[in-house]
Amino acid sequence: DRAAVPLGSIVRLGGTATVGGVDFAMIAGPCAVESYEQMSASVAMAKAGGAVALRGGAYKPRSSPYSFQGLKDEGLRIMAEIRAESGLPVVTEVVDAETVDLVAEHADVLQIGTRNAQNFTLLRAVGQAGKPVLLKRGFGCTVSEWLQAAEYVLAAGNPDVVLCERGIRSFEPSTRFTLDLSAVAVVKHMSHLPVIVDPSHGVGHRHLVKPLALAAAAVGADGLLLDIHPDPASALCDGAQALDRDRWFDLADALRDVLTSL
Ligand code: PEP
Repeated sequence: DRAAVPLGSIVRLGGTATVGGVDFAMIAGPCAVESYEQMSASVAMAKAGGAVALRGGAYKPRSSPYSFQGLKDEGLRIMAEIRAESGLPVVTEVVDAETVDLVAEHADVLQIGTRNAQNFTLLRAVGQAGKPVLLKRGFGCTVSEWLQAAEYVLAAGNPDVVLCERGIRSFEPSTRFTLDLSAVAVVKHMSHLPVIVDPSHGVGHRHLVKPLALAAAAVGADGLLLDIHPDPASALCDGAQALDRDRWFDLADALRDVLTSL
């Protein structure tokens, strides 16, 4: 019963940026941190399009061990530098319990990726790190398993969890995963936690990001996590799903129209 669901929580990301409540939050940036110059160009793009926070992976859990694995601690240092210069909070993934403290020193928000969504040791560790957590849904997890994963962070003493739907595995190969927008409505009904959507990793193709992003806003998501890149053709990670400047600005404009019409 909707009346039994507590009012939605608002999670502070850093500075004045929040997720949940009345504002729709866009977190944008490249899939991976590649260089200071790339991040500097990315944060300018992100800000100009209205993002409240910058994303970028320093540790990249890739399917293949031969793919770019991220700049690791050097990537964290770049993120921290860009954060200091731009004033935008930064979101980055932490892939194991050993590096939680290091990542927490450099980032405002700790992202748990889909492949670690049920790594309970890691979930407990980020629950004690004193930073908000962006928890991706495991691509093989039910909504209930996803919410129980969030409970590991909450039970460890951290109330600041943002859920992120990023697509689940299905039999359909035309998108990278199957973005489960119905899960947004389900989670909104079941939980007080804010929920955002990552259409970039969900669909895997930039031409499909806009329609799914608009649909996420319409279905009641509290925000979006988006891959943008100053030069997607040169991206070291997931370039096919990254929005270039024009596509990002076009999406941001279209989102404003959808959000005002709701
Ligand atoms: C990411 O957001 O950088 C990422 C790797 O996403 P996911 O864990 O959803 O694949």
